[in-house]
Amino acid sequence: MDIYEFKVKWCKVCDQGWVEIVKDKNNENLLLQCSECMSQWNGITELSSDIFSEDEIEVIKPEIEDIIKKGWAKYIVEN
Ligand SMILES: [Zn+2]
Repeated sequence: MDIYEFKVKWCKVCDQGWVEIVKDKNNENLLLQCSECMSQWNGITELSSDIFSEDEIEVIKPEIEDIIKKGWAKYIVEN
C-alpha cells in the first residue's frame, strides 16, 4: 500500500515531504499535514499561504469516502 496515498502537494515548509490529507482524530474534519515536518493546514487554499500550525491536531488516516465527500479527491496527486 502506498503510504502517500492521499498526497496533494510537495511541502514548501520543509521541502522534504508530501502534504497529505488527514483526518482529525476527534471529529470528522479533514485537514492537511506534511508527512515530514508535521505542519498542518486547515484547507487546500491555505496551502499556498504561509499560515500553518505545527502538529497541533492529532490525526488519523481518512477514508477515501471522507475525501470525496469533502470535495478534495481532485487534489490528490496520482503516482
Ligand atoms: Zn513539511
